[in-house]
Amino acid sequence: MAPSASGRVRVGINLENMENNKEMRTWLNDFNLTHPLVIAGPCSAETEEQVLKIAHELKNSDVSIFRAGIWKPRTRPGGFEGVGEIGLKWLVKAKKETGLLMGTEVATAAHCKLALEYDIDVLWVGARTTANPFAVQEIADTLAGTDKIVLIKNPVNPDMALWLGGVERLHAAGIKKLGVIHRGFSTYEKTKYRNIPEWQIAIDLQNKFPDLPLIIDPSHITGNREMILEVTQEALNLNYDGMIIETHTDPDNAWSDAAQQVTPDALKQIFKDLRVRKQDDESDEYTQKMKKLRANIDVLDTNLLDLLGKRMKVADEIGQVKKDANVAVLQNTRWNEILGKMILEGEKRGLTEEFVLRMFKAIHQESIGHQEKIVNV
Ligand code: PEP
Ligand code: MN
Repeated sequence: MAPSASGRVRVGINLENMENNKEMRTWLNDFNLTHPLVIAGPCSAETEEQVLKIAHELKNSDVSIFRAGIWKPRTRPGGFEGVGEIGLKWLVKAKKETGLLMGTEVATAAHCKLALEYDIDVLWVGARTTANPFAVQEIADTLAGTDKIVLIKNPVNPDMALWLGGVERLHAAGIKKLGVIHRGFSTYEKTKYRNIPEWQIAIDLQNKFPDLPLIIDPSHITGNREMILEVTQEALNLNYDGMIIETHTDPDNAWSDAAQQVTPDALKQIFKDLRVRKQDDESDEYTQKMKKLRANIDVLDTNLLDLLGKRMKVADEIGQVKKDANVAVLQNTRWNEILGKMILEGEKRGLTEEFVLRMFKAIHQESIGHQEKIVNV
């Protein structure tokens, strides 16, 4: 037992409480949707007219929750930092006029208090905030026991434990309507994404906590409206429960995140183009086809392991030859030659350069490990 920052005693905080906890998705089921949950609205609330205009264009669509940032965490000072409390009044008005639920980002105890005061339905913790356990704890303590929906974005760095730690803090504070938002991770080098998805982290999280609602944020992953459909589709293929998509009636002139926002019409087109897949199919035809294909995969996987085993045996022999000749294990020129050749060969077989690189790096590491064992005896 350890006292929390607020002095309350918290008991039995552990992730096991969250495994197999069907209660976590009750709020999502309560929407009674036949499609994934949709949260949409501008990156930032700018003016009352802007908020109302966008909300009106989104009502009577697949959108259930309207989003708008009121307090904006900006990387550098001097940018637009959000309209503050007055924006909450606009959200209240938008809800009254459209019936949409309202959502906004909270980062401090003061934000949480105001959001509760204005009865905002959905609160989310931003990526920069999730990276700071003190801030998340402050939010959890302020929201303790709330029946509002609280969503937590992944931290800016690809650290699943930190992300889960955030969920755990909220869960331990008695918040029942929880979910996570996958918004991608920062990288130093430039990629085609604004924040790389690192799908494996979200897949691992989903495997561990299948009942924790998982929402894709393609806007902050891509940073580019042209890629929103593709990334959202990828998430739906992976069984995500919903999406949060930044939507603005005049995206190019938005006060923040202009390049990634779509118009309400473009959003509706995205809904038409998305293919929602069933989680499974019980039909005989499907089961038969899958059985055959999976048997095929099982054979291939065994072959892969056989081949890798054989490859390591050859590596052992090489290790012995290097030991006898007293030559270093790591031979960079040879290694780079292999990589170059394999990338080209991989391309011919429809394998991406990224995959071939990753796979061969792993094989090479294992190979070096084998050789070192031999050389060092
Ligand atoms: C946002 O949703 O507008 C936002 C600031 O997102 P993130 O926390 O993912 O950067
Ligand atoms: Mn944004």
